[in-house]
Order: sequence, then structure tokens, then C-alpha cells
Amino acid sequence: MFRYIIAAVLVFMNFVPGSVSAYTHADTLRGSNGSGRSWWDVKRYHLSVDFDLLQHSVAGRNQLFFEVTGNATDSMQIDLQKPLVLDSVMVTPSLMSPVLKKARITQEGNVWWVEYPFHTMAKDSVYSVVLYYHGVPRSAKNPPWDGGVSWGKDSLGNEWDAVSCQGLGASVWWPCKDAQWDEPDNGMRMEYTVPDTLQAIGNGRLVSSSRRDGNVTYYWEVKNPINNYDVTFYIGDYAHWSDTLMGEKGRLNIDYYALKYNEKRAREHFAVVKNMLRCFEYWMGPYPFYEDGYKLVEAPYLGMEHQSAIAYGNKYQMGYKGKDRSETGKGLAWDYIIIHESGHEWFGNNVTAGDMADNWIHEGITSYSESLFTECLLGRESGIKYSKGLRTNIENRAPLIDDYGVNAGGSGDIYEKGAAIMHMIRAMSGDEKFRQMLRGLGQEFYHGIVTTAEVERYISKKTGLKLDAFFEQYLRRKNLPVLAYYIKDEQLHFRFEEVVPGFSLPIQVSSGKYTTTIRPGSDWQQIKWQKGFNINFSDDYLISIKK
Ligand SMILES: [Zn+2]
Repeated sequence: MFRYIIAAVLVFMNFVPGSVSAYTHADTLRGSNGSGRSWWDVKRYHLSVDFDLLQHSVAGRNQLFFEVTGNATDSMQIDLQKPLVLDSVMVTPSLMSPVLKKARITQEGNVWWVEYPFHTMAKDSVYSVVLYYHGVPRSAKNPPWDGGVSWGKDSLGNEWDAVSCQGLGASVWWPCKDAQWDEPDNGMRMEYTVPDTLQAIGNGRLVSSSRRDGNVTYYWEVKNPINNYDVTFYIGDYAHWSDTLMGEKGRLNIDYYALKYNEKRAREHFAVVKNMLRCFEYWMGPYPFYEDGYKLVEAPYLGMEHQSAIAYGNKYQMGYKGKDRSETGKGLAWDYIIIHESGHEWFGNNVTAGDMADNWIHEGITSYSESLFTECLLGRESGIKYSKGLRTNIENRAPLIDDYGVNAGGSGDIYEKGAAIMHMIRAMSGDEKFRQMLRGLGQEFYHGIVTTAEVERYISKKTGLKLDAFFEQYLRRKNLPVLAYYIKDEQLHFRFEEVVPGFSLPIQVSSGKYTTTIRPGSDWQQIKWQKGFNINFSDDYLISIKK
């Protein structure tokens, strides 16, 4: 996802992350690994949904396969948001036995407690529950930021519907374990039934379709683990064409879905995709989902990083809705939605933060991938210029890491300030070491769930830099380091103010052709400076300067 409106909404609400006076019990149920969740691990989902496009309702079932990993309590937490209703739950006492047992269910807001003697189940064995549900899911108010289902029509009056639910949660439209840290390890099957005049597109690969009584069911298969909020559908009258890329892991299937009347311009506009994928593979390693392919699907909202089915809604403009967010002009050389949302396949979808409080990992590294693509397209200087230009959007209103365990997703700064952190690490470690670190992150945590601490440790290890104080400052403090200096008696005096203990940076200081590197800390230091008052400090670092 992307920041703009998030920041606007937050500003409007005068909301500062980490400043929420009281999280609700619902926030804790949603954001924490409580007793109804901690004893089981999702292995696979098999979701089938019938869409009633007139009533804007859904009816279906989800078979959730889970492994008992801990001491099972007789209560399982299933997330399904009002006004949807969980009608019934059947349990497979063992995967071998076809006999299903009915469980008792009780509702507590957006949580359904499934009561069943789960304690009788064997540890390290896999079982399933079949969740039957129906209802009218929440309609999106301002998608994708304020999500839900977008029911609508295209310009020719054809049905055009889709869903976006990051933050709000997948449980807004299907019953699941709505926890960012627990993805279905063995992938997912989706079956979407719609009137047979339309297509229903899902994540992964189309396995088959079947028609009956004026309806058609599309069967989609995802082989890889997938974020709940990435599971999606697009219903509409689409044109479809495909291509392949010979990438780092061999042949990658690429599919495009644009509204039929947009096919011509979409074919031109999407032509950037293969170069983008090559660029991203160079900087971040192989595309993480070869088994599922890569897809761009035209959506009735701006965009979203739905794994192997990226939502595209930037109306075939360059930049972000035709604007350059870096204000350098470089951001108008490509389409923001295609690049940003696709970058998330590497960070957000492949490497996923276990708690939304660490979503800077998603948005910061992905926002930096925009600069890397600019560099591939226009050269190193342009890429770096774009990255520095993004800083104009940083507000420093809150630390990047938000409150844990309450489904809190960080401030708008997780984008540009996160990207600035990546650029500073690059400046300190050098291009090739940085590139190997970035590729290594995607490999070390391949299809994985991470914490900020794990990412910090990995980056420090891989770059050989001591980054504890650096990360403490930029991830856990809201304010920027202040480089204070004065020149007296041909001595340059300097130190950092408002920094955490042990904070320092290798700052290049120059005057004319003369350059040297200083390493300010929180105590005053001085060096011989016979260059007068014409002094420049490297702008690779996100600091403020005080004379
Ligand atoms: Zn994003």
C-alpha cells in the first residue's frame, strides 16, 4: 500500500501512532497471539465463495487446515467481521476420517470462538475445520486505505468488483486466522462463483473453470505461503494476455488483466513490467513466487500489493496519479503503482513482518525499491536524487515502530523515513555490499515472518556495521539527529545533539575540492579547518544541521 491518504487521515484525526490512549479488547484479540490462536498453525486454506452481485452478499465456506503445535485448549479463535455471520463449523477429528463433527460457536464482536475438544488432538498432526458463512461484507469507504469490498461498474456499465483490506483485515470478507504472522504454509485454493458473463480473478494460477446454471466457478491455486490481506478477487469484463520472463529462477509466467476497453493502452503501459522485474531481481534477488507467476490486474481503486495478483488502478498515468512524490521530476519516468506494489512482492509478501507495528520493513524497503528502479532506468545519480527527494514527505511525528500486539500499523513515515534508512545503510556500506545484503534478506527470510530485531541483526551482520544506536535512533525515536557545528580559530567543532547514546555517522564534510570524513558523537570534537566558512555536509544522511 502507499502513504498519502494514510497520513492525511491520521493528520485529520490528529493521531500520532503509539499515542493511542486506549486500545480495545478487540484490538488485542486481533493483534495478539492469544490462547485461542497460540496452539495451532495454519497450513492451508481452501476457500470457496459465491458472489451475489445484486445483493452485494457472499456465501461460502473455508476449509482451514491446521497443525496442532502446542497444548490445545478447547477453544479456537476464528476471525470474521460483522456483519458477516459464521453459520456453522465442522471439525475433522482426523484427516483420515471423512466424518465431520459439528462444533459449538459463540460470537464476540469480530471474533468467533469454536468450542470443541481440541485437546484430544495429537500434537504435530494436521486437522481441519470447515467454516460456513454468509452475509453482506463491509463496503469499502475509501479503498484501499479504508477497505472492504468495492462493488461497482466500469465505464460501460459492466460489473466491476474487488476487495482491499490491509490493516482492516481479510476477515472483513472471509473467515480466517486474521494474524499477520500466520500464513498458510502450503498455500491456498480459491473458488469464485460469479455470473458466467464475467471473470473472477484470484491470486496464483488459474487451474480451471466450470459453468453451471448461468454461473461460472474459477479455481485459483497459490502454492506459496500468502498474507491474509493479500488474498483477493477481481470481478469484471477483462481482456487477458500473457508473457514470460527468463529470470534468475528460469521461466516466469506473467499475466495481465485490463478492462476490455483499456486493452490497447494497457499493453503499452504495462510494457515496463519485464524490465522492472529484471531490475528488482538484480537488486533484491529472484522474484519470490515463480510457482504462482506474476500478475497485474486492473482494479477499481488505486492499487494494492496482492501477492501474484497486483492491483493496478493508477489509470495509466505516470508517477503517483500523475504527480512526482519526490518533486525531482524523476518520479514521472514511471508508474508509481506498478513499481511500488510490485516491489512489495519482495518486501511485504516474501519477507513479512509478524506484527504490523514492524510494517516499516514492508513500506520502507519497498519505497527504496522505487529509487532502485529509477536507478535502473535513469542511472545511479537519478535514483539517489529520487530517494533524497522523497524526504520532503517525512514528518517525524512518531517513531517508525508502532505498538505491538494491537494491530497498529505505524505512521506515514514508515515509507520515506524507512527508505532513507535503507539509503543511509547503502551510503555506509557501499553499493555492492548493500545489494548483497538486500538479496540476502530476501533469501535468509524467504517466505518468512520476521521481527524488526531479526532484520536489524541481519543487516548489521551482513554489512559489518555496528548499527544498534543507528536503528535505535531512526526506528524508535521520532526526532532526527541534529549535527551542531561552529568554526573558530581555524577549528571545526562538531557534535550530535538529540541522539541516543553511542549514536554516530561517518559524515563527509567538504569545501570546494577538499573533503574529509568526520564521525560526530554526542561529545564535542574538533578538527583543523582552514577552509573558511564555505562548508558542506554530505546529504546522504537524514540529519538536521545546526550552526
Ligand atoms: Zn506499500
